[in-house]
Amino acid sequence: MALAAQFDYVVMGAGVAGLRAAVTLASHGDVLVVTKESVRESNTHYAQGGIAVAMEGEADVALHLDDTIAAGDGLVYGPAAQVLVAEGPSRVAELIEGGARFDREGGHLLRTREAAHSRPRILHANGDATGAEISRSLAAMARAHGSIRFAEWTTVTGLVVEDGCVVGVDLLDRDNLASRVHARSVLIAAGGAGQVYSDTTNPTVATGDGIALAFHAGAELADMEFYQFHPTALSLPGVPRFLLSEALRGEGAYLRNDRGERFMERYHASLELAPRDVVARAIAREGMGLSPGETHAVYLDLRHITGIDLHQRFPGITAFLAQHGLDLHRDLIPVRPAAHYLMGGVRTDLGGRTTLPGLYAAGEAACTGVHGANRLASNSLLEGLVFGARAARSMLEEWVPLRNGDAAAVPPVALSPADEEEVETLIAHLQRSMWNFAGLLRDEPTLCQGVAAQKHCASGAGELAGQRKGSRRLSEALALCRVSGAILESALARTESRGAHFRNDYPHRDDASFKKHSILGRQGEAGVVFEEWSAGDRESQPANGR
Ligand SMILES: Cc1cc2nc3c(=O)[nH]c(=O)nc-3n(C[C@H](O)[C@H](O)[C@H](O)COP(=O)(O)OP(=O)(O)OC[C@H]3O[C@@H](n4cnc5c(N)ncnc54)[C@H](O)[C@@H]3O)c2cc1C
Repeated sequence: MALAAQFDYVVMGAGVAGLRAAVTLASHGDVLVVTKESVRESNTHYAQGGIAVAMEGEADVALHLDDTIAAGDGLVYGPAAQVLVAEGPSRVAELIEGGARFDREGGHLLRTREAAHSRPRILHANGDATGAEISRSLAAMARAHGSIRFAEWTTVTGLVVEDGCVVGVDLLDRDNLASRVHARSVLIAAGGAGQVYSDTTNPTVATGDGIALAFHAGAELADMEFYQFHPTALSLPGVPRFLLSEALRGEGAYLRNDRGERFMERYHASLELAPRDVVARAIAREGMGLSPGETHAVYLDLRHITGIDLHQRFPGITAFLAQHGLDLHRDLIPVRPAAHYLMGGVRTDLGGRTTLPGLYAAGEAACTGVHGANRLASNSLLEGLVFGARAARSMLEEWVPLRNGDAAAVPPVALSPADEEEVETLIAHLQRSMWNFAGLLRDEPTLCQGVAAQKHCASGAGELAGQRKGSRRLSEALALCRVSGAILESALARTESRGAHFRNDYPHRDDASFKKHSILGRQGEAGVVFEEWSAGDRESQPANGR
């Protein structure tokens, strides 16, 4: 069925942030939720470990704040973290009221502990399928609203900007049919960009489209050099980098190198529960090859755990491992880091306002500064709930009339099979280069090699797009190039090591010069600008009024 040419609100993405926002928007107007595949295909759906939330009063909330700030390595924007931990309990309570079923024992919610959390505060569902349950329950809440329309298998390929305001989106459906939808405002909730890297825990939809489109349209990006590499993705040749949740270490798993040593004592006092960036680099240094396809020398070891039934606690992980002949109780499980979560993104204030009028962002695609240089495990599902709801409230408060949407999207010429193959080759080359040159350990020469690869991909994809050719994959290639370019530029500019960003040539944290956020796309200023964010000026900066 054809889409209407106008909606009050367009939400790009059907993960936790987009669905939560849509639920709020739906009581006040028509909402179009666009998603590249089915509603369930998102990072949210694959989230395993759980959602961090402090539900036991002020002292509990204060501890959650402390842990979030400590993990962020000096760069967490305090007011954003305060909002996250303080509003989190109410958003989670609403989710439970709305039908989300978290694991319980004797009627009480079960809580687990993960790396860098000072106490057990992670709620989980169906053992290790928390994201799927959150996605299911939010989608059911959204579908109960008659005013939400879902456009599945549809790609947002562009933002429509008129007189400096975002007034709509260009879409491409699975048959390559183009259309344009006008709206009062648009929310980018399109998730992360793990597909920038050849080794990632993210599904194939995570190509950073929202970030790339916002940047292309003129919005600022922030903190793009901070890509979190999850320490423990399954490392088997030819098998996707399936995530082995932090909760395994929360339940007591050890990390061992190929000599059988528990090596984390050489890296951090918290051992296996050290912050993610520390654990990931420790694994890299213990002999893991940084190139795809190399042999594996680091293992998760749960063989000593006897108190709990790991199969029951981690049914999804157990089933996946069984397909490959591995068992949590019996075997050493080979692991390696993989790109997992982007701390940076489209710069927003605490109400999800970007620097471009009419455009809002929430969830992994956005950067409020809440994670600083390194996200605390299980804080991102909470982020999607809290900031998705906040962005929706801003969109409602900043109500603007709909513009007349006459102009149609220009239909692209379909790519030939040879063009499609070319696009795949460009993407694969970019992904390998980003992994090799802009991954866990970086320096100026490798980052410059990354820039060369990015330019090669951008020029090939740009040439096809310049011929007015179009497809979802070409649109993704363009997005991957833009996001890679932003990561590389920001990583080159930050000549220090902090959180997830580690420079071999600048191995120390340099607070005097770099206790600041990196900004790309500041009008009138070329390249990366570094700035401190403080409560007063930060809230007045992203100027989304129109
Ligand atoms: C394997 C895995 C495990 C994780 N485990 C946890 C965990 O236990 N706890 C935790 O807090 N976090 C976890 N995370 C991180 C967390 O899941 C994500 O950060 C969070 O779900 C992001 O939510 P989101 O709504 O911002 O985006 P997503 O859930 O990624 O949703 C993005 C949506 O945007 C759509 N989209 C993208 N591009 C376009 C386009 N061009 N046009 C239309 N639609 C588009 C996608 O189709 C999708 O619907 C995990 C992530 C992964 C990958």
